[in-house]
Order: sequence, then structure tokens, then C-alpha cells
Amino acid sequence: MVDFALPEEVRKIQEMTREFARQEVRPAGIALDRVQDPEDAYTSDTMRRVLARAYDVGFHKMNLPKEAGGLGAPPMTNIIVQEEMAVADAGLASHFLVAPMIAGMAATANGRHPFYREYLDAFVADTRGAHSGAWAITEPDHGSDLFQFGQPPIHMDTAAVRDGDDYVINGHKSAFVSNGWMADALLIMVSEDPGQGMEGTVTFAIPGNLPGISRGKPLDKLGLRGLNQAEVFFDNVRVAPEFMVMPPGPGYRLMLERIVTGGNTAVGTLAVGVARAAYEEALAYARQREQGGRRICEHDTVKMTLFNAYRRIEGARALLWKSSWLIASGQPHLPTAMAARTMASDMAVRVTSDMVQIFGGYGISKEHPVEKFYRDAKLLQIMDGTNELVSLKAADQLIG
Ligand SMILES: Cc1cc2nc3c(=O)[nH]c(=O)nc-3n(C[C@H](O)[C@H](O)[C@H](O)COP(=O)(O)OP(=O)(O)OC[C@H]3O[C@@H](n4cnc5c(N)ncnc54)[C@H](O)[C@@H]3O)c2cc1C
Repeated sequence: MVDFALPEEVRKIQEMTREFARQEVRPAGIALDRVQDPEDAYTSDTMRRVLARAYDVGFHKMNLPKEAGGLGAPPMTNIIVQEEMAVADAGLASHFLVAPMIAGMAATANGRHPFYREYLDAFVADTRGAHSGAWAITEPDHGSDLFQFGQPPIHMDTAAVRDGDDYVINGHKSAFVSNGWMADALLIMVSEDPGQGMEGTVTFAIPGNLPGISRGKPLDKLGLRGLNQAEVFFDNVRVAPEFMVMPPGPGYRLMLERIVTGGNTAVGTLAVGVARAAYEEALAYARQREQGGRRICEHDTVKMTLFNAYRRIEGARALLWKSSWLIASGQPHLPTAMAARTMASDMAVRVTSDMVQIFGGYGISKEHPVEKFYRDAKLLQIMDGTNELVSLKAADQLIG
């Protein structure tokens, strides 16, 4: 049974998150956005403080099961929390989104390397924001290629070679790895059997401080500046086979599709959050700004622009909820996730642009956050696959 009424517990989490995001995340996001050198931003007191506040409340472990030390929030809570966080700041919301990645895997990985148990215990006990994960798949020369499972067989350049009992990894992942500069645990996809193309990929979940791992400078970019992104280098990194979470073969593609189904639903939700942020600011502004002897919200063009933003946001959210519900009920559906994400991110670029327009000249000024939302929205059409590639993949799945 599909129901749009949130359970009482989820509604309370939504209210609490909204208040937390308004008080802590929005001001931190705006401050981080203005720091010129990203390295200064990510080592700042602002960053330390907002992470510590969020971890202290338990946002990082909200979706981890209670048996693993998490808060075991009900299904669908994640999409509600992600939207509220993104309304405040989509960059920091992205950080919170990827941070539990390795802890989440550790919670379900029984009896492999002792690192997983130790990491999970440290993660759930963390009240400072010291522990966080990232997934590193994109490479400087292979972005959209990662979806390429057909002919010709294309493989990643970063490679794992068997050496005695271990694997030795060499290569490097692109500057786009979300949380790549700060993460202390990494999910990495590297080529092990190049002849099989992308299906020759092996996946490891590893500590981020293994000898031979280093990071580039944090990426200086257009938007989502609260999210640290950086290259990850592998120089003869020795990895025990117990760190392998998926061997090469057809299972890799299924795992990637699972990750992308969740990832696309999350990216779409960030987009709804950014669009809502811009809409709320523009609505408040249009209610008090007067031109031609009337409030600008009473002028037909402004009124219609506001209504169009409202219906686009509501429509995008409804499809994202469907994708999230499919995931929560054990029926993840890649084309639905991809449809929801492409619709939501295109919508966010359109809506944030329209909301800048409602502010007139003041829309491009840093006096108002709406110009930041416009910059943030653009990245969501590229994150976790460009909208073009994502659409082509979804179309392929529908055609069969
Ligand atoms: C905010 C953000 C966060 C990210 N987070 C992560 C992360 O956590 N981990 C990670 O590993 N990566 C991450 N990425 C990287 C992201 O997945 C890649 O940027 C994306 O897959 C595109 O790859 P590319 O940048 O190399 O572009 P390219 O693949 O070089 O694409 C360039 C252009 O060519 C088009 N194109 C390419 N191939 C085809 C084709 N076959 N058919 C039609 N058109 C094509 C694309 O649509 C695009 O317009 C992130 C990126 C962003 C922007």
C-alpha cells in the first residue's frame, strides 16, 4: 500500500532535521562556499564544528541497524533527512550521504577482515566526524566508460595484480571522488582481469591509510563547495584478499547497478532539496519586494514562475519517493531511479535559474543565497554519471 503520510517517528525526525539543518548546516554551508582555498575550508573550525554537531546528534549512523550500534531509523527516513539537509546545503548533505558508506558495508560483512568490525565500532561511537567513507571509481581517463559493458571491452587503468597471498594496486582515481580528501575508508573498483572489460573489475573496501595511498589537493569547483572531492593515488598498495567485497565477473555489474540505483535516488533527492531552498527564498522575497506599486508576487509572470517551481518540485519528489519505496521494499528498479534523478536534477537547474530571475539583480548578489543554489544544482546533472549517460542506460534497460 503506497501512503504519502509519514509515520509519526519519521515526521519527528523530519522536524528535528529541518531545525538542525536551518541552525547548523545552512550557515556552515554558506561560510564554506565563500572560502577561496578548499583546503582551508575543509580544515576550518566551521567544517569541524558542523561535522561534530551532526555526528553528535547521530545523523551519520541513522540508517545503520541497531544491532550494529546504529539508530535503525525506519525505511524512507534517509530520503526525508537527505532532502532537509540539502535544503540547508547540498554540499554538506553530499558529505553526510557518502560518509556511512563503508560502515554500512561493514555492518553486513560477517567475519572477513577484523578491520570491518573495528571500523564499524569506531564509526558508531564517533561524535566528532572523524570517520567517513567514499567510493572511488571514476578515473581521469574513464568516467562515462564505467557504464560500458558492451563492445569494445574497456577497462579501468587502476589495476590490482596478485602477488603471493595479496593484491598489489597501482593507479589513480579522479579528482571527483566525493569525500575523497577526508575519507578514512574507501570502496574502490579496480581492474583485475582487463580482458573481461568492466566485468574484470574487482571491488575492495579498505582502510584509507594503507601504505601507498595518497590524496591530491581538494578540488576547487563551481558548487557543492561544502563537499570535499579529491584524487586518490595508489602506489604499490598491498591489500589482503579479505578486503575484497566483490570478485570480477557478472556479479560486479549487478552490484554497480545496486549502488547506482541508491546513488541516483539520493542525487535526485539532493536536487529536490536545492530547488526547494531556492523556491522558499524566492517566495519569501516575492512576498515583500514591491515594484509597480504591488508586491512582485502579485505580478502574473512572477506568480506563474513560483507555481511552476512548486509543481516541478512536487512532481520530482513524488517519483523519487517511488524509487525510494521500491528500494526499501526490496525491489530496487534502476530505470525508475534514473528517471527520478534526471528529472529532479534537470528540474533543479531550471528552478534555481528561475528563482534567481525572481530576485532580479539581487539574484546574482552574494547578499542572497539563491546564486549559490544555482551553482550547486548544476553539479547534480553530472554526479554519479552525467544525465545523458544515465538516460541512455535507462533507455537500454527499458528496451532490453
Ligand atoms: C558532484 C560530483 C560528485 C561525484 N562523486 C563521485 C564519487 O563519489 N566517486 C567517483 O568515483 N566519481 C564521482 N564523480 C564523478 C562522476 O561520476 C563523473 O564525473 C561522471 O561519471 C562523468 O565522467 P567524466 O567527468 O569523466 O565525463 P566524460 O565521461 O568524459 O563525459 C564528457 C561528456 O561526454 C558525454 N559522453 C561520454 N560518453 C558518452 C557516450 N558513450 N555516449 C554519449 N555521451 C557520452 C557525457 O555525457 C559528457 O557530456 C562525481 C562527479 C561530480 C560532478
